[in-house]
Amino acid sequence: MDFAGNMAQQQTQQHTGATDRESKEGALQRGREDMTQQGKEYTASQRRWAWAVIDREAIRYNLKRFRKVLGPDVKMMAVVKADGYGHGAVETARVALATGASSLGVATVDEGVELRYAGIAAPILILTEPPIEAIGLVLQHQLIPAVYNMEFALALGEAADAQGRSCPYHLKIDTGMNRVGVHHSDAGDFLRTINFHRGLELQGVFTHFATADAVDTYEFRRQLERFDQALSVIRYMGVDPGIVHAANTAAAIRYKQARYDMVRLGIGIYGLHPSEVTKPLVELHPAMSIRTRVSLLKSVPVGEGVSYSYTYRSPGNVLIATLPIGYGDGLARVLSNRMDVLINGRRLPQVGTICMDSTMVEVNQRSSALRPQAVVEMGDEAVIIGRNGNEEITLDDMAATLGTINYELACRFGMRLGRIFVD
Ligand SMILES: *Cc1c(COP(=O)(O)O)cnc(C)c1O
Repeated sequence: MDFAGNMAQQQTQQHTGATDRESKEGALQRGREDMTQQGKEYTASQRRWAWAVIDREAIRYNLKRFRKVLGPDVKMMAVVKADGYGHGAVETARVALATGASSLGVATVDEGVELRYAGIAAPILILTEPPIEAIGLVLQHQLIPAVYNMEFALALGEAADAQGRSCPYHLKIDTGMNRVGVHHSDAGDFLRTINFHRGLELQGVFTHFATADAVDTYEFRRQLERFDQALSVIRYMGVDPGIVHAANTAAAIRYKQARYDMVRLGIGIYGLHPSEVTKPLVELHPAMSIRTRVSLLKSVPVGEGVSYSYTYRSPGNVLIATLPIGYGDGLARVLSNRMDVLINGRRLPQVGTICMDSTMVEVNQRSSALRPQAVVEMGDEAVIIGRNGNEEITLDDMAATLGTINYELACRFGMRLGRIFVD
């Protein structure tokens, strides 16, 4: 169903003129109807022999772990940007809200609108300031923007006031990430200039850490000090900062003093760790696994190449199993000849160049005393990410091979694969 959702979103992105608000929302609406149709008749694994399994129970488990770690008084925002880190924003949001999260975080207006169309009424914070042209949508769908540009702030205030109301916003303070936000030493002045506006309602103040997942804590502490400093300036001015928040998953797990009123949990609710340093501190269950089925099995004579550019040639006495998944689904092409796949509890080498829609695996037909012959048949399930028998391949394993982080890989697997949600 996310498949059609993605299409609706792509359609939306091709129509981002300032005047076509209606057609944009029409596209989202149509996409949602398509999704419903598709989901009713066939499951993702029936439509295609490659799919993502998303374990709702794992997401619940993770949120409960966080509630334990945080105690009862800290609010949890579930960050569901990039389609819930590839897990499905709507489904993740529903599970998270039912398991203790009180608000949602997204990166774009479209992501917020998608949640509204799904009937989700919880507060939705857009973590980066949207374009001024999108203010109409922000107001229409009661999204809460991050604010850090004066021009945007005043335009938002004017637009809200023209509708006879005020728009809640969160002031974003840059304490050292140097990405977005009002510079920490300018926060007081910024608020002094806009706080009078009756179209604006300061609902929260937040910052974001650059090194919360690093072993070294010096720069993290410097950001925390700058944030506290900015907060005292704001309070000294007599302004109530509202909901104060700073921590992403890593900071929420590691630093009590960074939790303030609320934490913004992204990677952790999906059961993934932001880095090695948080692993010993809280047990999480990964929610995503990537599965496919052997769609063709054939023997390839010795010396013949397999897939584009013949980066692999048959050593003879092997079967080549084709899996209908490729880089169009987020399986990075640079993993070609460098990854394994689990079939029937065995770890088998991927061989040949990964294509857009297909990936091949070598099934060695030689058996030895140490290694029995692998038995693979058409239709057998193959695990790209997840558990199979006693073997497991994690997003962390794959990220290590690629020199990237689990965040990026989870997002990528959200590109095209259909999803099956299990409880
Ligand atoms: C993505 C994001 C988060 C969530 O970070 P995780 O490391 O995934 O927990 C929190 N805050 C902001 C501003 C973000 O952009």
